[in-house]
Amino acid sequence: MTEIAEKVNCPNCGAPLKLEAGEVIITCEYCGAAMNMAVGKKYFLRHSIIPNQYSPEQISSMAKKWMGGGFLKPEDLARRSSIKEQYLVFLPFFVIHVSAQAKYEGVLTRTGQHIPKKGDFTREYHWKILGRRASSFPTKEYEIPLRGKVDFDLSHVSKNAKFLNSEMDEREAHSRLKQEIEEHNKFLLSSEMDVISTIETNLEIRNTEFVHAPVWFLKYEYNGKMYELLFDGASGDTIKGDIPAPDDTSTKGFFGKVKKGFFGG
Ligand SMILES: [Zn+2]
Repeated sequence: MTEIAEKVNCPNCGAPLKLEAGEVIITCEYCGAAMNMAVGKKYFLRHSIIPNQYSPEQISSMAKKWMGGGFLKPEDLARRSSIKEQYLVFLPFFVIHVSAQAKYEGVLTRTGQHIPKKGDFTREYHWKILGRRASSFPTKEYEIPLRGKVDFDLSHVSKNAKFLNSEMDEREAHSRLKQEIEEHNKFLLSSEMDVISTIETNLEIRNTEFVHAPVWFLKYEYNGKMYELLFDGASGDTIKGDIPAPDDTSTKGFFGKVKKGFFGG
């Protein structure tokens, strides 16, 4: 275990920076300037923030509404669950505008024949990389609401929200981007061929932006178990919602047994 190594002051305003182990891009909580701690310099990419649009009360009622309707949910979910935790987090993302070219060779075998395939394609993406290492956040399912973004300013960080610094800089984000696009290209090609013998991916990065985006994290309890619910703080969309398995009601104690009886189980 390494302790936080040194005291560092903000090169922009001189205030002490709060550094946590592993963090690389730090936003000064006094002046809002972002710093790259790996090189000890003021951060040079554009830093944006997407403001949160919802109050805690609105988010709670959206959660109840989510529980009360829709597919595959236990009917008593809204009635019998309670929200145990609810907080807003500003998550750090790299949004990378990239043109990706892939050249490939492979073989299609599923028809029973051995058909060689080769070709290339180019696609453009605005790819997101979350700047945190240990995170189960579903980045792929999250449509980052870029329409709401504004230049970074501390006044847009809601009171009582958690603010997370990035644990990687854009160089590392770019190498993750490469891995993820290679994976994605293999996935795209899997519909066309069964064996990919070579694939070469070339990236042309057009632009990289550093964006803090608001996400509400909720934990709710239902029948003694905890489930997670995530809302986009800009659009109000559900990013992820854990739904209890239907038979969670059938095994718990007396009331569970009664319930089971009602459903003819
Ligand atoms: Zn500062």
